[in-house]
Amino acid sequence: MGRRGANEYKAGEALQVISCDRNGESVNCPSCGHSQFDRSPKKRLTDTPGEVYRQVRLTCRKCKRSAVYMPTNFVPMAEPEFV
Ligand SMILES: [Zn+2]
Repeated sequence: MGRRGANEYKAGEALQVISCDRNGESVNCPSCGHSQFDRSPKKRLTDTPGEVYRQVRLTCRKCKRSAVYMPTNFVPMAEPEFV
């Protein structure tokens, strides 16, 4: 398995974070258990109809790992590490 970088979640961990965020649930870091994430953009999609973000990034405030997803065409199996 290749390492893409120290601050990236493994694919399975990233999916966990992403699906929680998409469902509007609170997110716990699968790596360190921390519950506070920095979110970019901060606003949720539902707050800005008509505006489409190319990607959403969630970064754990403790271990700084991050997960990125595309809000408009989210396909779990398209995560690079799954291919
Ligand atoms: Zn963490």
